[in-house]
Amino acid sequence: MPEVKNCRRCRKIFMYSLGPQICDACKKLEDEEFEKVRLFVRDFPGATAQEVSKETGVPTHLIYRFLKEGRLEVAESSPIALLCENCGSRIKSGRFCITCSKRLANDMISAGKTLQESANKNPDAAYKTDARGLRYLHGERKE
Ligand SMILES: [Zn+2]
Ligand SMILES: [Zn+2]
Repeated sequence: MPEVKNCRRCRKIFMYSLGPQICDACKKLEDEEFEKVRLFVRDFPGATAQEVSKETGVPTHLIYRFLKEGRLEVAESSPIALLCENCGSRIKSGRFCITCSKRLANDMISAGKTLQESANKNPDAAYKTDARGLRYLHGERKE
């Protein structure tokens, strides 16, 4: 269901449905900025985020957001890097390094198991969740 929201960039009101909370005009602008950054880091893999920002006119926080979203890829040797939020080591995209994301995934699995165990005690509740999930996947209501 589309909702009316304020664009995160220009604060204009627009109909929001999916993806980042920005209006179409800003989305287009951001795509152009992304392209500039992508080409620049491809041609100058040794540039720092500040240099990329200066040359492309794209703010550094946006460059880091592109990285975080996994849209932008930088060379192994690039000074532009994200740091793992857990251990602080260099990562290429997302929020955590491989070691930490594996560990976090394991934590999630054990948390999931606990959930499943409680669901087993109450099979009716688990069934209801599954049915709702399926309905959602097919995008139609099967009552
Ligand atoms: Zn906007
Ligand atoms: Zn880590």
